[in-house]
Amino acid sequence: MNDPPIARIDPPGFLADPAPAAVLAALPGARAVGGAVRDALAGRPVADVDVAAPFPPEEIAARLAAAGLRVHETGLAHGTVTAVLRGEPVEVTSLRRDVLTDGRHAVVEWTTDWREDAARRDFTMNALSLSARGELWDYFGGRADLEAGRVRFVGDPATRLAEDHLRALRYFRFHARYGRGEPDPAAVAAIREAVGSLSRLSVERIWMELKRLLAAPEPAEAVALMEETGVLPAILGPASLGASRPLRALAVIGAPPDPMLRFDALLTHGSAEAARRLKASNDEVQRLVARYRAGHDLLPLQPAIAEGGPDDDTLRRLLAEQLPERLLDAAWLRQAVNRAWGWQGPGDAAWAHFRERLAALPRPVFPLQGRDALEMGVKPGPEMGRLLAETRRWWLDGGCTADVVACRTRLAMLMSDIHGNALPKR
Ligand code: ATP
Ligand code: MG
Repeated sequence: MNDPPIARIDPPGFLADPAPAAVLAALPGARAVGGAVRDALAGRPVADVDVAAPFPPEEIAARLAAAGLRVHETGLAHGTVTAVLRGEPVEVTSLRRDVLTDGRHAVVEWTTDWREDAARRDFTMNALSLSARGELWDYFGGRADLEAGRVRFVGDPATRLAEDHLRALRYFRFHARYGRGEPDPAAVAAIREAVGSLSRLSVERIWMELKRLLAAPEPAEAVALMEETGVLPAILGPASLGASRPLRALAVIGAPPDPMLRFDALLTHGSAEAARRLKASNDEVQRLVARYRAGHDLLPLQPAIAEGGPDDDTLRRLLAEQLPERLLDAAWLRQAVNRAWGWQGPGDAAWAHFRERLAALPRPVFPLQGRDALEMGVKPGPEMGRLLAETRRWWLDGGCTADVVACRTRLAMLMSDIHGNALPKR
């Protein structure tokens, strides 16, 4: 029932790591599967090692425990346990075959047939398996596809997409990372046909997959293909049309490979709302909101930036009001969007100079706190808030250079102003 290996390769380094080595030794007939095998063959760094074994999950857990490994049974129902050795986790999964799929969930059965397990994997390059001795099994030509930069579905693409709609999104992630040249026409045609079913995916799965795609070194071509096939508007709405252009521009101008910055580029004006709809984390949504505000403050400064400005006072004011990292995001985005749509704006060197100055200037901190106002005899409450806010406004207007003494003096003046005195200008 189990075919001989197609090749024997020099055992890649990850097989000698203590945790995978111990797991493979504890489970007769077990093999490394999925991403680790693919990445080792491609000469890329291996992240997590997944192992599959021809035993039901309870037996896997028992054998691992007997070999002295710590075992977490969190995924037992899906056939997965996590073995841990010296803090290093290895996921170990029973060989499976699908008995029922509805596009979102699968009911599986354990099997001892490696080919069946490989057949339910998504792409040929993800269906490889490797023994501890370096024997390689490749049931669907995954090694050749990997070498040729061809991301190809295992089996009939339309069927595989109907079994699990997420595979349409996974296709673009793997195409971005491993694809070269023209994408597989059969895959693209089937994805185009399956666009309507994407709305049935949970937003959480979409968000997770999208972020993984945007973490690829160069996702722009894959995103352009998502746009062209209708996948991108299906998951992000019509506002994402044309979105791959700012993304391409981000790469051209040398922006950092940050998935959130890239997501922001897809929907510059509605990115926070879109992230919220996709149930992104609070931190992620807040980051996009803060970037939007920073972008709003940056917009009118473009003429000054083009001239090598703005002056230090203006820059400090900007930094006092907005998070420095978000101002940097906003600058990258504005530069990319201008370039993508051929809009007037500062040149690349002017943007670079502006970002250098932003990064070099310390963030100004308003020197007064409630404690200072209390000491000066202001009663806690709305009046104190108003006085501090007014003093802060004055501090900002002056370029954030007034120190604590000057700010206290200003506050004292504002207090006496309540009693009818005119305020001298600073
Ligand atoms: P990465 O390095 O990005 O983690 P990976 O190949 O390990 O890549 P995972 O999402 O961790 O990707 O999945 C592990 C393996 O499980 C894949 O290589 C593939 O064989 C299989 N797999 C995961 N998701 C699916 C799916 N939706 N349909 C079919 N097979 C899948
Ligand atoms: Mg993985």
